[in-house]
Amino acid sequence: MTVDDLDFARAADIRPIEEIAAKAGIPHEAIEPYGRHIAKVDVTKLAPGGRGKLVLVSAMSPTPAGEGKTTTSIGLADAIARAGRRTIVALREPSLGPVLGMKGGAAGGGRSQVLPMEDINLHFTGDFHAITTANNTLAAIVDNSIHQGNPLGIDARRVTWRRVLDVNDRSLRNVVTGLGGPAEGVPREAGFDITAASEVMAVLCLATDLADLKERLARITVGLTGDRRPVTVGDLGAQGALTTLLRHAIKPNLVQTIAGTPAFVHGGPFGNIAHGCNSVIATTTARSLADVVVTEAGFGADLGAEKFLDIKTRVGDVVPDAVVLVATIRSLKYHSGVAASELETPDAAAVEAGMPNLVRHVENIRKFGLEPVVAINSFPSDTDEERAVVLEWAAANGVRAAVADIWARGGGDEGGDELAAAVLEVLDGPGDASSFRRLYEPEATVEEKIRTVAREIYRADDVEFSTAARRRHAEIEQNGWDDLPVCIAKTQYSFSDDAKALGAAEHFTLQVRDLVARTGAGFVVALTGTIMTMPGLPKTPAFERIDVDEHGVISGLS
Ligand code: ADP
Ligand code: MG
Repeated sequence: MTVDDLDFARAADIRPIEEIAAKAGIPHEAIEPYGRHIAKVDVTKLAPGGRGKLVLVSAMSPTPAGEGKTTTSIGLADAIARAGRRTIVALREPSLGPVLGMKGGAAGGGRSQVLPMEDINLHFTGDFHAITTANNTLAAIVDNSIHQGNPLGIDARRVTWRRVLDVNDRSLRNVVTGLGGPAEGVPREAGFDITAASEVMAVLCLATDLADLKERLARITVGLTGDRRPVTVGDLGAQGALTTLLRHAIKPNLVQTIAGTPAFVHGGPFGNIAHGCNSVIATTTARSLADVVVTEAGFGADLGAEKFLDIKTRVGDVVPDAVVLVATIRSLKYHSGVAASELETPDAAAVEAGMPNLVRHVENIRKFGLEPVVAINSFPSDTDEERAVVLEWAAANGVRAAVADIWARGGGDEGGDELAAAVLEVLDGPGDASSFRRLYEPEATVEEKIRTVAREIYRADDVEFSTAARRRHAEIEQNGWDDLPVCIAKTQYSFSDDAKALGAAEHFTLQVRDLVARTGAGFVVALTGTIMTMPGLPKTPAFERIDVDEHGVISGLS
């Protein structure tokens, strides 16, 4: 039997959450315990604090299994704590879609996990359910308004607000609602996204406090009237009720790592189809409490890090002082074209052939005026010869690089010391934040912004907009939304919009299928290629391994 993440988690000495709160400097009156090991934090009861250094953890393009950003973030935080700094790690909440679908849980792995991993991975404090409910309440409010005489003149064919569910269910991507006759509502074409892609999720993650949450919710556009004017949540008068449904969800969740480092796990937008980072409130609160905060952005740096730097830094005080790029030997081999089943076979030449993917991510981070530290997330199957390919490239190109043995050994136990030393060298030096620059200015049009990201980060030759996308862009211009940043929905496997174009894809045209103005979140989503905002289950889903016995003990969760 293989030792899986759950076994490591069970072996840990989990501490009462009050102890972790005290370690984080959170006073008793700000703690709202959810059981013995989880608490929500009422940030309004915290005294103003300092401004700890921020480390953003991103990665090269992943394999379908994930390259260990969460694991590395946790291990790195533990190692920095071990070096004597007050440290907090700020992560996203797992979505049940991947937990039961393809990728599995998102609470880290091996000796670098947040606890209690079963609860964090399954329902947790109910934030996802609150977001789902708020989102779907709004959908019901829109349909009801149309049904009850349609005072706002909403065009049923132009409702853009979709329902959501935290389940991978491809059968719900396109549905017809309101069938059954006059008493059952007005029939219209509708659809479901996964909760992680919901604008309510983005709004919650970008809101700076409860008042800002309400204002953002009020600004959400749900569709257009017959004469093409936008209809907002404010027009429907629903912002008060929706904010009420989210009043607990907006509070950061406090948990602990296996090594006992305080961790905020709060908000969970995906990095490919959404903006990909935990809540602004959790990150800035962590900064106010700790010397060093380690946070993660979803998927590869072309997605999560770009969105962190171009979207999240415009909202909160979160310009990173250091960036870590996680690379794995298996992913480097994968990007040279090695089959998924062969990734454990030693092959230094394949690692070399996969390097252009990592090199491009390093170049991209430098475009933001930041100097990344490459972390080789060590797997049991890696060889020294394979690692040397990366380390020698780094040495020859003036890139800081370190091997992180945080899965097998844990950051609390020497495994992350080398990486922590490299990161602390950056943090204790002049740091990167002062040279930081974003990729584009708000004044550029949405189309120009998409072209900038596509050319500079993805390295597309060109961008092609579908007829639908062009129409949407005309509406965006008309409504004065052109100054919003862009959140590009793209496959995480490739720099291009074709998941099969591995390595450092080039000579491609990015296909923009549609644009959606998220006026509450404050960005325009550009859907590229064939990316779906509601995933499906794979042929062999993760749920097949998951079970619970008569004592309530869970197995098969990883
Ligand atoms: P990401 O955050 O980049 O998606 P995760 O940290 O969630 O990746 O890791 C994905 C999976 O890979 C987890 O199940 C984790 O246990 C496993 N994993 C991560 N790093 C290692 C490692 N160094 N050795 C073995 N397994 C690992
Ligand atoms: Mg992760």
